Amino acid sequence: MESAEPDLSRYFEVAHVANRCAVLTGAGVSAESGMPTFRGEQGLWKEYRPEELATPEAFQRNPELVWEWYEYRRGMLEGIQPNEGHRALASAEQFFEEFTLITQNIDGLHQAAGSTDVVELHGNIRRDRCHDCGAGRGEEEAMECTCGGLFRPDVVWFGESLPPQAISMAFSAAQSADLLFSVGTSTMVYPAAQLPYLAKDAGAFVVEVNPEPTPFTPLADLAVRGPSGQWLPRLLDPLGSPAGGGNS
Ligand SMILES: [Zn+2]
Repeated sequence: MESAEPDLSRYFEVAHVANRCAVLTGAGVSAESGMPTFRGEQGLWKEYRPEELATPEAFQRNPELVWEWYEYRRGMLEGIQPNEGHRALASAEQFFEEFTLITQNIDGLHQAAGSTDVVELHGNIRRDRCHDCGAGRGEEEAMECTCGGLFRPDVVWFGESLPPQAISMAFSAAQSADLLFSVGTSTMVYPAAQLPYLAKDAGAFVVEVNPEPTPFTPLADLAVRGPSGQWLPRLLDPLGSPAGGGNS
């Protein structure tokens, strides 16, 4: 494991001329904002495992219970703010001809930081949709959709498929990127895990930002260890000024 300061000069050479940038973010980015993981939690919900509540079966069995859990989780989101890493990614949109932000997180913190067109692989806990027909739910609407189905949080549950459109956008962005960042993710969960490999195979310069090494680390063109809230501003902010960058 490297301990010395990584050499960023090659990275900045590539990043300054890159046209198509793709970014994949995972749980680590949210954790830095203080987002709880909902594992081994306290109080009311400690007797349940997420696998018992975040499933279509649980919702069919007891929609009230599942909703109660999501209301509790939404409540916990309220004090949580985007961090410097989220903000650096939001600004970086304008530095590239094409910029695709792909996230495994469901908390909407990228949008809260100002990112637009976020590709959400696992949905968004702040939105609802109909369990049967998929229709979105307006602010004031009843719990039941006009089709007769029940509204539910718009997240991907255990045993459900990921939204095909999000997957296809993520794959296509990874395959056409000149520069890809894999941030705060273990690169072990499909399909997100494939994205850095796809980008690398297609010739992209791939940067990994994560506190720990991952299975992808040996293939990364640049791997930096530490919080994304520190590294992303350092790697992305200089791209906003033509003379910026360098190994500083
Ligand atoms: Zn419906």
